[in-house]
Amino acid sequence: MKNIRKTSWLCVMGIGLTLQGCILPVNTKVVKTRGATRMAQVPVETVQKQHTRLISPSKDDARYREMLIDWKLRSLAHDPEQLREFFLPLPKGAGLHMDLAGSVSTERLIAWGAADGLCINRKNWTAESPPCQGKAVPMQEAMAERALHRKIVQEWSMEHFQGSRQEAQQHFWDALDKFDAVLSKKRLVDSLADILSIAGKNTHSYVELLHGLNSDQVGKRAARYIQPDDPWTETVLLKRRQQIMADPLFQKTVAHTTANLKKWVAGARDLLGCKTGNPDPGCAVEVRFLMSANRTRDRGYVFGQWVYGYELARQSPLVLGIGLMGPEEHENSLAYYDDEMFALDVLHRLKQADTQQQPVRIALPAGELIPELVPDTLEGQWHLKFHIRHAVEMGHAERVGHGCDVLGEEDHTELLTRMRERGVLVEACLTSNAVLLGKTGRSHPLNLYLGQGVPVVLATDHAGILRIDITDEFVRAVTHQHLGYSELKRMVRASVEHSFLPGASLWQEEGRYERVVNACAQDPAGATHGSASCNRFLQGSRRAAMQWKLEGQLAAFEEQVVEQ
Ligand SMILES: [Zn+2]
Repeated sequence: MKNIRKTSWLCVMGIGLTLQGCILPVNTKVVKTRGATRMAQVPVETVQKQHTRLISPSKDDARYREMLIDWKLRSLAHDPEQLREFFLPLPKGAGLHMDLAGSVSTERLIAWGAADGLCINRKNWTAESPPCQGKAVPMQEAMAERALHRKIVQEWSMEHFQGSRQEAQQHFWDALDKFDAVLSKKRLVDSLADILSIAGKNTHSYVELLHGLNSDQVGKRAARYIQPDDPWTETVLLKRRQQIMADPLFQKTVAHTTANLKKWVAGARDLLGCKTGNPDPGCAVEVRFLMSANRTRDRGYVFGQWVYGYELARQSPLVLGIGLMGPEEHENSLAYYDDEMFALDVLHRLKQADTQQQPVRIALPAGELIPELVPDTLEGQWHLKFHIRHAVEMGHAERVGHGCDVLGEEDHTELLTRMRERGVLVEACLTSNAVLLGKTGRSHPLNLYLGQGVPVVLATDHAGILRIDITDEFVRAVTHQHLGYSELKRMVRASVEHSFLPGASLWQEEGRYERVVNACAQDPAGATHGSASCNRFLQGSRRAAMQWKLEGQLAAFEEQVVEQ
């Protein structure tokens, strides 16, 4: 019975495929033309003589396999738990738009705070250094007292949060401050290990983490060189850049962070037991960083952080680019938005002139706004009209985080076309947008972007605070956005295609995941012992090597699902 149902569903979906196993309508004949298959009308009497034709399915046909998996996926669409089980082993490529501090699991934070002897202030629920005074009690108590533990989880995350959109935003961003004392330098290695472990268990093979990377020190120092009333012109910014870079603190911080990053990653790998016989799944996950500036500070501070980020990316192979962090509706974010996009334009053009170095890549959150979050004034509401466009056009963002209010943008149709043509990727954070902006189902623009051919990936944003992982986002993409397997597979491929890993793409045509480059065209997807030409190509491109690995993982996943 199951097979009959499966077959009939495939027949409905099977346009352009060899219609395996379908009992064709009596006056329809399968005609092959130049390799393609189509159906043609033939005289009824001819068909009656032939009776019905049965054509066997071939699981080797990639499109057939995808349809079969899609069918299976849709049959689970009503059951989030089974969907989760289905998606857990799906290779998910690259984790983009992941904030390091916000991605650590809350239980880990509490355990570290307790182990490090910190206190929890029972009035504002902020972690504090000992001695515990006034309303503060040892966090250790939370390990024994369930109610206290539960309360801290709620204060440090969105678990069971109830309130208005503004209150949700406040609670979300406050959480980072509340557990900030836990994430001391001492716990950076643990944080990284925790995130890699979760990524590995969710079958990510690469993550790009957003972090300040000590840029606050340079941001603060920038105030020495940039006065609030300085003109904001290219000439002035370039001069200030040189002054900031000449400050002894600047090179010292770059050198120190470059060395420490290597130690962080090595330390996390040690914690995960990567050199032991029992490595954690996180050992299979590669990691790079984007230095994110703090948009709640003034424009000079942010500029100083970006100047630093550019230099850090030049010196550390683990840092690939720069980003921006903080609430987009913050008064400083709004006041300095265009000044900051202009600053990025200046830095980007300066970097482009330097052809010797790897480019510094730019990913910006933009359009994480709804009318209720910005001031109810003409000027305030005006911000809904240009943030995404200016991130793309002035800020040179290759990836846009959230992009939720795209329909509010001035001439959004043209903007979507531009994003498609430039290959600007949208990092869609479905749970984050539902919890913080109330954007879910049709009110979320995910399907709009997909319909317009704009590349999209699913991202977790601040997974720890949101109490999710990337697998949950795949489930949500089916239950709330009704996506099918081929769309999700495309997103997985896009995550590596649009990652900032250096090197050429595996694919002949960007964004069209149809034909791999000639060097690997004769090799089975993901083959570890491929042809000499393919090996040479992959050795020259970190990105292509990651894509090749992903193709092998996808093929293995599909085979397993089809065989079930
Ligand atoms: Zn975000």
